[in-house]
Amino acid sequence: MSERDAAAEDVPGRSEQEATAATAGPTHVGTGPGPLEGGFDPPASADVFECGYCGRPFAEEDLLALHRGHAHSDQLSEPEQAAFEAAYETETGEMRRFQLKAAGLVVLLYFLLLMVYALV
Ligand SMILES: [Zn+2]
Repeated sequence: MSERDAAAEDVPGRSEQEATAATAGPTHVGTGPGPLEGGFDPPASADVFECGYCGRPFAEEDLLALHRGHAHSDQLSEPEQAAFEAAYETETGEMRRFQLKAAGLVVLLYFLLLMVYALV
């Protein structure tokens, strides 16, 4: 063991800091059900859309609609269900367009590199 390793182990509170950093991160991502222990603390000036069932804040109304549909699907009212379905359709369409663009870019890059390889 080198002196450097020994010094690193002697730093007091290091493992405690790492443990704190690991638990301080978000405990949940996405719009599904998630605990509030992770702490949502949006700035007071921010416009947030809060979930009427669990109080979780969202930056956009579409994200809130998706959250309601995923996390509280058994408690939704008719307009909330319609909003969820509209947001879901919109997101699915956006994802499809992104996948097509990404696949097109990969094909283009493939042929570009093939031509470079053939000519050089
Ligand atoms: Zn909620």
